[in-house]
Amino acid sequence: MRRKRSLKIVATLGPASSTYETIRALFEAGADVFRLNMSHGAHDDIQVKHQIIRDIERDTGRSIGILADLQGPKLRCGVFANDTEELVSGESFRFDLDKTPGDLKRVCLPHKEIFDALEPNTTLLVNDGKIRVKVKDCGKDYANCIVEVGGEISNRKGVNVPDVILPVAALSEKDKKDLKFACELGVDWLALSFVQRPEDVIEARELAHGRAAIVSKIEKPAAVTSFESILEVSDGIMVARGDLGVELPVQAVPPIQKRLIRGCRAVGKPVIVATQMMESMIESPVPTRAEVSDVATAIYEGADAVMLSAESAMGDYAVEAVSTMNNVAEEVESDPNYFNVIAASRSRANTTIPEAITLAAREIAESTDIKAICCFTDSGSTAVLVSREKAMVPILALTPNVGTARRLTLVWGLHTVVTNTVSRFKLAVVSAARAARTQGFASEDDKIVVIAGVPFNTAGSTNILRVAPVDEKQIFDSEAD
Ligand code: PEP
Repeated sequence: MRRKRSLKIVATLGPASSTYETIRALFEAGADVFRLNMSHGAHDDIQVKHQIIRDIERDTGRSIGILADLQGPKLRCGVFANDTEELVSGESFRFDLDKTPGDLKRVCLPHKEIFDALEPNTTLLVNDGKIRVKVKDCGKDYANCIVEVGGEISNRKGVNVPDVILPVAALSEKDKKDLKFACELGVDWLALSFVQRPEDVIEARELAHGRAAIVSKIEKPAAVTSFESILEVSDGIMVARGDLGVELPVQAVPPIQKRLIRGCRAVGKPVIVATQMMESMIESPVPTRAEVSDVATAIYEGADAVMLSAESAMGDYAVEAVSTMNNVAEEVESDPNYFNVIAASRSRANTTIPEAITLAAREIAESTDIKAICCFTDSGSTAVLVSREKAMVPILALTPNVGTARRLTLVWGLHTVVTNTVSRFKLAVVSAARAARTQGFASEDDKIVVIAGVPFNTAGSTNILRVAPVDEKQIFDSEAD
């Protein structure tokens, strides 16, 4: 099965998408990567979903990526005696460490370290930013606040403190357990929530120990400020627009999205645009025009992937949401102007031989009638470089490494193929030509570009580019070896 688009689609699994049949339908509609949200769902449930995805992978013969999203240090208030209260603007409200159920005047905020960081005039946001309170005075176990914008507060609602770098560990004890579990299960990507500094990513990377690649979710103002240094130690980035739009004014989100996508494209690391992309499809079989336009914008900006959250996890139209995204991507990518927009926003820093070779591959493919760029990759780094070039021809990433193939499913334009290990370049060319033909990218009379590093299986060794016929007899008849 081949996709007719370069954009990748990430679909979050949840109660609306927990059976083999539904997850397979999501995959067939266009989901390339499935997100398992560690904030919800016990380990048993996550394990069942993981196994279903691997079963679908086996049954369809296509690599599928799995991304486990760690909850991170999300702050939540305690519970209320009446389960819910309506805070009134202008009234006082107190957060403290007292576990007694809350009322209209106070509630527990069970994060001791937060009180050390609060100061008078700090803003706290509750329930996705719907309620805003300002600290009037505070001590080591309380904060008396004035309600600036009132609204409904209920049990365990999220609390954001946007203005402060919180003295909280990036990975809670729950996160560490979830990370270990997810790595042992064999997920391909870990997403880190509420990253504040590069050190947060380095800590997770050490615990993952190469078993999964790391996506840093940018959702804190501190992470936006330190974006470049966070990107340097991450394998990918998620523009987590939900919390970002709470921690910062919503109108700040689009420019940040653009900056993050540009930054990731420049260094060739995948970037996912997430949250509220098809929000209305939780309840409606058709999206709003604004949602379609939002997805299209992310594609024109050159994002690697777009993500569905509640739409696929608990919506009534999960499969339709995926196929709508798929249709938008096919339409945008067939717009002749798409190529111009992508080409104009390419930022180039080609200083190494692998970078120069991947650039040459694109230029050859764009100026001749080449049907595909086929690259041999072990760790995946060459394939990511080819993807960075955003050539307007299909890219086949051939790898003997199943883990690499799965990880690359998140990366723009890559059609991954698991091959046997090859030791001679001529055999690599044969294998590439066969994959291009059998997977529907080229026929016998066509030509492809093949790039590889010889000797094989040495990371960063990309040093050969060949324009090769797809016809195997011609490959064998050719002089080169
Ligand atoms: C977000 O905030 O946009 C996001 C993706 O994070 P989560 O869904 O985990 O809150």
